[in-house]
Amino acid sequence: MITTEIRHFQGAAVALIRIDNPPVNSLGSQLRVQLGEALTSAIANSMVQAIVLTGTGRFFSGGADIREFNTPKTGVQPVLREIISIIENAAKPVVAAINGIALGGGLELTLGCHARVVSQEAKLGLPEVKLGVLPGAGGTQRLPRLVGVPAALDIIVGGEPLTADQALACSLVDQVAAGSLLDEACAYAVSIIQGARARSHIDQAPLDESVDEAVFENARKKAKRKYRGCTAPLTCIECVAKSLSTDLSSGLAYEAEQFALLVNGEQSKALRHIFFAERKAGKRPAMNGASFAIRKVGVVGAGTMGGGIAMSLANAGIPVVLLEQSDAALKKGWETIQHNYAGNVKRGRFTESQVQQRLLLIQRTTRYEDLSDSDLIIEAAFEDMAVKKEIFTRLDSVCNMDTILASNTSRLDIDEIAAVTSRKEKILGMHFFSPANVMKLLEVVKGAHTSDQVINAVFKLAVKMDKTPVLVGVCDGFVGNRMISHYTREAYFLLEEGASPAQIDGALRSFGMAMGPLEMQDMAGLDISWAARKRQAASRPPHLRYSCVADRICEMGRFGQKTGSGFYRYASGSRTPLPDPEIDVLIARCAQLAGITRREISDQEIIARTIYALVNEGAKIVQDKIAQRPSDIDVVYVAGYGFPMFRGGPMFYADSVGLSAVLETVKDFHERFGDYWSPAPLLTQLAQNGGKFSDL
Ligand code: NAD
Repeated sequence: MITTEIRHFQGAAVALIRIDNPPVNSLGSQLRVQLGEALTSAIANSMVQAIVLTGTGRFFSGGADIREFNTPKTGVQPVLREIISIIENAAKPVVAAINGIALGGGLELTLGCHARVVSQEAKLGLPEVKLGVLPGAGGTQRLPRLVGVPAALDIIVGGEPLTADQALACSLVDQVAAGSLLDEACAYAVSIIQGARARSHIDQAPLDESVDEAVFENARKKAKRKYRGCTAPLTCIECVAKSLSTDLSSGLAYEAEQFALLVNGEQSKALRHIFFAERKAGKRPAMNGASFAIRKVGVVGAGTMGGGIAMSLANAGIPVVLLEQSDAALKKGWETIQHNYAGNVKRGRFTESQVQQRLLLIQRTTRYEDLSDSDLIIEAAFEDMAVKKEIFTRLDSVCNMDTILASNTSRLDIDEIAAVTSRKEKILGMHFFSPANVMKLLEVVKGAHTSDQVINAVFKLAVKMDKTPVLVGVCDGFVGNRMISHYTREAYFLLEEGASPAQIDGALRSFGMAMGPLEMQDMAGLDISWAARKRQAASRPPHLRYSCVADRICEMGRFGQKTGSGFYRYASGSRTPLPDPEIDVLIARCAQLAGITRREISDQEIIARTIYALVNEGAKIVQDKIAQRPSDIDVVYVAGYGFPMFRGGPMFYADSVGLSAVLETVKDFHERFGDYWSPAPLLTQLAQNGGKFSDL
């Protein structure tokens, strides 16, 4: 809804036009019709001398309604560009009173205004790049004219919002209101009418032609690093560059063309899919009764994961008690935490005093009794069922009956762990990813008895910790690791069949993965998956093919980066994988022993074998109800496994290829490579009915 009110202010009549479209004041088609009418009528009203445009609640406007992207246009509603042009060409001054969040189209709307006054708590930004598009209502043309090219590139390509003070510092706004925003905006408008202040004319601003090409080159380099494989950031840069060489109206036409290309492209659809998928995954389950408050958390084990989890909690301002089995182990863990925080200071993430505050939040102990008043304990000790059972037995006896107990296990059975306690409904898995203080994904593992209150409380905590929680069920490896076993298995088979580690990793990096499967194994430590394979050996069906390559490498004491060699070798102090002829010989020997004749393997086959292995297992996971929906799997893979965001996750990727084509290839692999490839019934069913995972 749009409302207009005439205010008499300092002797002038000011039309106050208010956007009131909860929850975020998005600029959907209906609202644009009303806004266009309100503006036109205020401009035509001879009594009105100036217009102030504002929002309601926390929002000025959250921008376009992205659900309207790629929907048929009826042709009757004005596009945002037309509304902005009405404002820009108005004979009377239009001042934006930015009361809160102004993002995307919301901020572009204010760029058509003749002045911008903001409240102290306003946030202003152009996040379109994150959805694979660009600010298509003039943002790439007006912003450089207003704030200069370097700042415009930062705002448009960075996609991060600015605070009111930052916006003032770069001249994006004219004034930060010290008192009443509306009074100050009206006063600003009156001062324009009286000639005391100039009316800004972005459309007539002189072009800053002195900008060096190096500024654009730098921006391209930065964008390629930050948004691996994404086209939108580069198109944003080209549009900003265009603003220097052309007048506003030709620049706007160029921007509109580029926007149309991006919004209809696969990347933008994939990025929007992930945007909505994360929101769906983060929805807390409905529950009966009150939720638990988690104010203090215990962490058992101060190794790689425990230390990172403690840092993540402290970063969220939550007091932590960190427990180790000996003083020596505690000292080592504490030193690693201090070292990691020192790295954060060096890279400018935190100041020294912020780090000191965080360190003070982490209390250390070797006594279980010190955990007794924690609301939640997260166990991150060795991946061994006997160790976990012993720890949970002790925790169950020392902790208050309300305390929630979680395990960070990568694969073990949460229900078997819960069985040793007297509080099965308060036991769950909280599977963080390494490094836990950096990686966003958190698999929240619901056991057979875990209550909804517990899940609800842990989801709330996850959000506080700036994590992306996804609810998953109990099985070996939950969602992420259960699928990754199939992906790495194919990588090992491809080695035996003729590919080299560098070819496999290169092919998957060219697909967009942050890392190839073998270099990822080297980084995580080969001993971890070796232990899992040994544990699974007894239950592995003997007729299924098994590659010994990774086992032979581990038997040589090569556990990856931490031992200086694995699938690759590493120069001392370097993380750059170097091909190792010794490994080539080992692979050829394993292939010979397995009776495999090696052949040329195409990159295309590498991608299909590994990615479709993820898809086929993902479909089984949905069917087994280990994941609530296919889009949750996409969130897990994008947030936790370096799957390219611009492909929308493995399930969305399969949808975009077409499920019948995926099924044909899976069937072909089934015939050629055996039972691992038995098509998932859900995949078969959807493919035969012309369905998609995203329909579920
Ligand atoms: P780690 O070996 O680095 O650390 C384990 C720590 O637990 C050690 O410091 C050890 O002294 C301590 N510990 C062992 N028994 C203990 C006990 N009874 N009481 C108190 N402390 C004890 O191992 P990690 O890599 O941090 O893994 C920990 C858990 O997290 C495992 O279950 C693992 O599967 C899981 N995990 C690991 C990763 C990873 O990438 N490393 C990722 C996700 C989950």
